[in-house]
Amino acid sequence: MNGHDYDLIIIGSGPSGRAAAIQAGKLKRRVLVIDRKDRLGGVSVHTGTIPSKTLRETMLNLSGWRERSFYGLSYRVKDRISAEDLKARLHMTLDYEVDVLEHQFNRNHVDTLNGLARFVGPHEIEVATEAGETTRLTASKFLIATGTKTYRPDYVPFNGRTVVDGDEFLEMEAIPRSLAVIGAGVIGVEYATMFSALDVRVTLIEPRETFLDFIDRRLIEDFTHQIRENGVDLRLGSAVERIEDAGDHVEISLANKRHVRAEMLLFAAGRMGATSALNLDAVGLKTDHRNRIAVDRRTYQTAVPHIYATGDVIGHPSLASTSLQQGRVAACHALETPTLPESPWYPYGIYSVPEMSTCGMSEEELQERGIPYEVGVARFRETSRGHIMGLEHGMLKMLLSLKTRRVLGVQIVGEGATELIHIAQAVMNLKGTVDYFVQNTFNYPTLAEAYKIAGLDAFNRMPIPEEFKVRRKEAITPEDPQN
Ligand SMILES: Cc1cc2nc3c(=O)[nH]c(=O)nc-3n(C[C@H](O)[C@H](O)[C@H](O)COP(=O)(O)OP(=O)(O)OC[C@H]3O[C@@H](n4cnc5c(N)ncnc54)[C@H](O)[C@@H]3O)c2cc1C
Repeated sequence: MNGHDYDLIIIGSGPSGRAAAIQAGKLKRRVLVIDRKDRLGGVSVHTGTIPSKTLRETMLNLSGWRERSFYGLSYRVKDRISAEDLKARLHMTLDYEVDVLEHQFNRNHVDTLNGLARFVGPHEIEVATEAGETTRLTASKFLIATGTKTYRPDYVPFNGRTVVDGDEFLEMEAIPRSLAVIGAGVIGVEYATMFSALDVRVTLIEPRETFLDFIDRRLIEDFTHQIRENGVDLRLGSAVERIEDAGDHVEISLANKRHVRAEMLLFAAGRMGATSALNLDAVGLKTDHRNRIAVDRRTYQTAVPHIYATGDVIGHPSLASTSLQQGRVAACHALETPTLPESPWYPYGIYSVPEMSTCGMSEEELQERGIPYEVGVARFRETSRGHIMGLEHGMLKMLLSLKTRRVLGVQIVGEGATELIHIAQAVMNLKGTVDYFVQNTFNYPTLAEAYKIAGLDAFNRMPIPEEFKVRRKEAITPEDPQN
């Protein structure tokens, strides 16, 4: 340990800090996790992933959303589901998540300390507790896993009640009758569509003409149609000129001279790296315009090699899922333990209503890169499971290389998208081709059958290379749908 207090000190107990700490504990190294919040878990557990997904599940259950095409919306929506109804389940889930985390840390001998950490030298930090005490600690290696804070520009009159940011939103005392959301990024879209499912009048405001640009445009068209049908008033190309806190409501003036009035405003236009308290000057580290830290994306080392950074503080893709993965890889590298390299394709899940999930490239990206491709599409209503579930919408789009027949991207919108995408992820990372979907039997009836339908859709239009024809003849059986 070279005389240091710890082998690894981790600042932040969110997903990346948590994964790194448990990995270090498993390697029997001395590891400490510091968090300024008295409850472990980070943004993910307390204001981000877990609360928003618990809220979504609660809303869909209480409103009877999934069965609406058979029975209409549940009477509870009309009678108004209360904020208390939503919070009851939220607190149960969060308490459970924190318990599990504390138990994991105990089992793996991970030390924890509550306080605000700042560097005072290359191998030394100072931790200030809320009681005003300070402690100095040293380590061979550090991991910055401090995540992000909400972006709160001066022109937004935040009051924690009718004008709130993403972290304050879940503290609402009552469900508003109308909600304006500024920012059609992942968080804005998720909350806007969830509340619309509860019959709240939602206006989603985005200054740019497009939104969620990393997703295939055909999927976004389908999604836009669905959310508008569900009642979301989507205002694209609508820069905000002025926001006025009018006591019991909010008045929003848009640059295009339109006007929005709502009982509550959620400002969800971006987050900033939580680095300002770290005193990075003491170790010679710089941040970008969003206070994020640059790293080597293979090892997660910063410009100072014994200091690592993972999770949202390093920027895209800013997901709990990728943060967990990064934390573990960084800990292995820092503690000089060999591990497997990360797979290139990871899924992106957007838990809007309807949900969306993607893995790999979009059609626009393939066109930009000049890659020849074929497309296979399946609608959920084409599957028997979709009929049984009463799904009127939902689609799966598969992009395939014309040269290698490999799957290059899959995009799904609709029920179960965030679960279904893992089939695509497995096939892609195992270098699978369209033939996988044609050759293999899928459970019936399932929504996963959409893969088979989309695969066949593309397969039937794809040219078959000569040498491949020989192989295909051998492989085809009488039951093959192509025979
Ligand atoms: C509303 C919302 C919904 C989301 N939904 C999803 C989703 O569905 N799926 C998904 O994969 N991701 C989702 N995310 C993203 C996910 O929450 C983040 O990617 C993840 O939390 C980032 O983890 P992290 O390890 O960077 O740390 P974070 O979870 O950001 O935690 C950082 C911790 O560091 C602490 N800290 C900061 N500075 C200091 C300091 N100087 N000293 C001590 N402690 C400090 C903070 O108190 C905090 O506890 C969502 C985010 C939000 C906001």
